[in-house]
Amino acid sequence: MRSLADVVAALELRYPPSRAADWDAVGLVCGAPDDTVEKVLFAVDPVAASVREAIDTGSQLLVTHHPLFLSGVHGVPATSYKGRLVHDLIRNGIGLYVAHTNADSANPGVSDALAATLGLTDLRPLAPQPADARDVVVVFVPAEDTDKLVDALSAAGAGAVGDYSRCAWLGTGIGTFLPGDGASPVLGRVGSVARVPETRVEMVLSRERRAAVQKALVGAHPYEEPAYSFIEVAELHGRRGTGRIGRLIEPMLLAAFAEHVTRGLPRAPAGIRTAGDLGTTVTTVAVCGGAGDSLLDAATAAGVDAYVTADLRHHRVSEHLEGGGPAVIDAGHWATEWPWLAAAADLLRADLEGAVQIAVSQLVTDPWTQHTY
Ligand SMILES: [Zn+2]
Repeated sequence: MRSLADVVAALELRYPPSRAADWDAVGLVCGAPDDTVEKVLFAVDPVAASVREAIDTGSQLLVTHHPLFLSGVHGVPATSYKGRLVHDLIRNGIGLYVAHTNADSANPGVSDALAATLGLTDLRPLAPQPADARDVVVVFVPAEDTDKLVDALSAAGAGAVGDYSRCAWLGTGIGTFLPGDGASPVLGRVGSVARVPETRVEMVLSRERRAAVQKALVGAHPYEEPAYSFIEVAELHGRRGTGRIGRLIEPMLLAAFAEHVTRGLPRAPAGIRTAGDLGTTVTTVAVCGGAGDSLLDAATAAGVDAYVTADLRHHRVSEHLEGGGPAVIDAGHWATEWPWLAAAADLLRADLEGAVQIAVSQLVTDPWTQHTY
C-alpha cells in the first residue's frame, strides 16, 4: 500500500500535468493525498459504470484517460450525474485521477500502446513536440575539486541523459586570474597573477533545472567568484508527441490490415470502418488513439500507407482520400485508447514496485451500444 500522494507522484513522473494541452483538465479530481491506496483501477472513461467497478473492486483510486470536468464547475450537487459520481467516489474513499493529453504525448503514451497492439515497429511521433528545453552548463574548477563539483551538479539534476546519469565532459587547462583589493582568493594572492590547473566541466540539464544547478554550482565551487555560463541548446524534435508512425514487419493488403486491426483491438459496438482502396499494400502506418481527424494532413505528409484513428467524419475522410491521402481506418474512440490502460498499469506497477494492486477495467464504456449493418 502507498499514500495517494505517492501514487499520484509516480503517475506524474510518467505523465507530467505540465505537458497537457492548454484546454485540457488533468490531474487529481478528488481524493486526499494522505489516503491509503491498496488498489488502483484504470479505465478510459469516468462514467457511472467505471465508478461502480472501482467501488465493487474495493479500489481506492480510479485512473481515467478522459477528464470528468473539462469546463468551469460551480458545484458538484448529487443531482447532476457528474456531481453524483464525485459523491459516490468520495463516500467510498476513492480518488479520481486523470491523465489525458499528457498521456497522449508521453513517451511511451497512448498511441505507443495502440501501435504495439497492431505490431508496429520503429515508432516515432506523428506530430512531434519539441524536446524539453535544455541548457549546457560550462564551469571551470580547480582540478582537485572536479569530482565534488560534478557530484553536486548531478545531484541538482545536471548530466542526466536517457538512462545515464552524472554525464559530464571534462577537459583540463590552466586558469589564470589577478585577485584585486578586497578579494579573498582560495588560491593565489591579492595583487599577483595566479595560474591554476583547472578542469572545464560541461553538463547538460533540463532548462527548468537551471536555477537549482546554478545554486548547487555556487554552493559546491571552492572559488569566491566561480567562472561559469549556461548555454541554451537549440530546440529539436523529441520522442514525445501526438500519434505515432510505425512499420508493419510483414506488409499486407488494406483489407487484411483492417482484419488485423479488428483482431488486435478490443471489440466494441462502434466497430471498425475502413476507407480507401482495399487492394493497397500497407507497410507504414500512422496511428492516433482517440479522435484523430486533426492529424489526417500529418498522416498524408508522413507518406504512410494507412492511418488508424477514431471519430472521423464523412467530409473530412472523403476530401482526404480524394486529395490523395492514405487509407483511413476508424477503429473507435474507446477501442483505440483502451490498450494504453494496460501499458500505463504495467508502468505504475513497476514504479511502485508492486506495493499496490493495479487492475485494468474490461468494461466497454464507448457510448455506442449497437452497430447495425
Ligand atoms: Zn479520447
